[in-house]
Amino acid sequence: MKETEIKGKLVDNETRCVHYQTEKDIVAIKFYCCDSYFPCFKCHEETVSHDIQLWPMNKWNEFAVLCGSCKTELTINQYLTSNSSCPSCGSAFNDKCSLHHHLYFQV
Ligand SMILES: [Zn+2]
Ligand SMILES: [Zn+2]
Ligand SMILES: [Zn+2]
Repeated sequence: MKETEIKGKLVDNETRCVHYQTEKDIVAIKFYCCDSYFPCFKCHEETVSHDIQLWPMNKWNEFAVLCGSCKTELTINQYLTSNSSCPSCGSAFNDKCSLHHHLYFQV
């Protein structure tokens, strides 16, 4: 399986970064603007020099969320309906991330 490259300020190999590193912060998100995975929007902001473009709703069936635990890629729809855990390995996701969905996905 090919290793998915994650940009930004990672602190471990489960996609935790300098900004978010609780036990549950194991999700990386692919940004629509640059087609690259980052652990969080702050990593994106501090790593690239362009503004975030949100995922339009009609693209929510594309793979854009990476579980840092099992490295499975989820579609945005799968992620948003996952009930804060990975459908593949069952790891708990940080449910506070839902407070940030408007930073990634057009709602
Ligand atoms: Zn970008
Ligand atoms: Zn970060
Ligand atoms: Zn998983």
